[in-house]
Amino acid sequence: MPEQTAHSLPSYLNPDELGPWGDYLEQVDRVTPYLGKLSKWVETLKRPKRILVVDVPVELDDGTIAHFEGYRVQHNMARGPGKGGVRYHQDVTLSEVMALSAWMSVKTAAVNVPFGGAKGGIRIDPRQHSQRELERITRRYISEIGLVIGPMDDIPAPDVNTNAQTMAWMMDTYSMNVGVTSPGVVTGKPISIGGSLGRVQATGRGVFVVASEAMRDAGIAINGARVAVQGFGNVGGTAARLFHEHGAKVVAIYDHTGAVYHENGLDIPALSEHARETGGVAGFADADTVTPDEFWALETEILIPAALEGQITAKNAPSVRARIIVEGANGPTSPQADDILASNGVTVVPDVLANAGGVTVSYFEWVQNSASFYWTEGEINERLEAIMRDAYASISATAAEHKVTMRTATFITACSRILEAHEIRGLYP
Ligand code: NAD
Repeated sequence: MPEQTAHSLPSYLNPDELGPWGDYLEQVDRVTPYLGKLSKWVETLKRPKRILVVDVPVELDDGTIAHFEGYRVQHNMARGPGKGGVRYHQDVTLSEVMALSAWMSVKTAAVNVPFGGAKGGIRIDPRQHSQRELERITRRYISEIGLVIGPMDDIPAPDVNTNAQTMAWMMDTYSMNVGVTSPGVVTGKPISIGGSLGRVQATGRGVFVVASEAMRDAGIAINGARVAVQGFGNVGGTAARLFHEHGAKVVAIYDHTGAVYHENGLDIPALSEHARETGGVAGFADADTVTPDEFWALETEILIPAALEGQITAKNAPSVRARIIVEGANGPTSPQADDILASNGVTVVPDVLANAGGVTVSYFEWVQNSASFYWTEGEINERLEAIMRDAYASISATAAEHKVTMRTATFITACSRILEAHEIRGLYP
C-alpha cells in the first residue's frame, strides 16, 4: 500500500494554489494530536467525499449564450445529509468551495445537528445579470447538480448573493424535475413555501446566546456591558438589537459606510431607522465618528465581527482591548491574530460555533418540511437557544480539559463526532 503523507493531496489540486483549503488542512493538522485513536481516520477529513463541477449554459436576455462554472462539494456525510449554502460570486473557486464545505461539516458537528457538510457556488458576478437571467442560471445549475442533491442527500441554502427568492427557484426546479413538490430540498425558503419562522434572525440570536454564556463564564453581567459590532446587517443588526434589549450598552457599530460611537450606548432602534433611510450608519446624529483603527481598539466587554472575513489580523490584533470576541462572520480572525489574542488573554468564541444558529434553524426548517408540521416562533427560538447553550457548554468543557482555545476545542469536538461516525459505521465494503 502506498505510504500516505500528512498532506497527501488529491491530484486535482495544485499544491501551490491551495487557498482556503490549505488553511483548513492546517486546522485539521493542529487538532489531530487531540483525536486519540480516532486519528486513524483523519485522512478522511482531508478529502471531500464528492465534488461535482458543472457547466451552466444559459441564454442571456440579448440572445447570446453564456457558460458559467458551477460547483457542489459534499465534504462529509457520515453524520447525515450534506448541508451548506450556494454562493454566487465572480471569485468563487473550487478550493474555496471545498474549504467552505469542510467548515460546514465542522459547524454541523459542533452543534450536533444530524447533517454533514457541503457547499456550492457559481463563478458569476450577479450584479451583471437581470432577475430573469439569474432565474435561468439558478434553474440550470440546480438541474445539473440534481444528480447529487435531495431532501435526504444534500440540502442547499442561501449564502453570499443568494436569498429566499433563489431558494424558491431551486425548490421549484428540483420539484419539477422529480415530479413531486419537495420543500425539504433547500432551506432558507420564503415562509409561504415551507420556510421557517425565526430563520432570518437565527444567526444573530445564536451569536447573542453564546456571547451571554461566555459572559457568564467570565463573570460579566449583560446589563451595562459595553458591546462593539462590525456589520449592521442580518447577523450584526440582530445581535446588536438583542444586546440593546437586554440592557447592554452597544457603544459602537461599524458598517461599510463608517463607524459610529457613543460612550453611553447607541440608540439601536433609532440607528436602524437611520441606516434604513440612508443606507448605512454614517451620519447618525446622536453619535461620534471613529476610525476603523479606533473601532478595533475600543475598550469593551464584547466585540462582534459580523461583516467580512479577514478583519482581525496580526496588524490590529495587538490593539484589541475587548475581553471576549464572538465571531458572527465566517473567518474574521487570521490564525496569527488568534495567537496574539490568546496570549493577550482575549477569549475568542469561534465562527464554527458562534454563527451556527443559522444552520440550526435550517435543520428545524428541514424537520418541519419532513413532518409537514410547523412550529411557532417561540418553539423555534427556545430549541435554538437550548442547542446553542449545550454546544457552548460541551465545547468550553473540552477547552478546559485540554487547556486549548475555544477554536481548537470546537474542532476537537466536531472532528471527534465526525470520525466516531466513520469508525462505528466501518469502512465499506
Ligand atoms: P449582510 O449583507 O446582511 O450584512 C453585512 C454587513 O456588513 C452590512 O452591515 C455591511 O454594511 C457590512 N459591511 C460590508 N462591507 C463592510 C466593510 N468593508 N467594512 C465594514 N462593514 C462592512 O450579511 P449577513 O448575513 O449579516 O452576514 C455577515 C457575515 O456573517 C458574513 O461573513 C456571513 O458569511 C456570516 N454568516 C451569516 C449567516 C446568516 O445566516 N446570514 C450565517 C452564518 C454566517
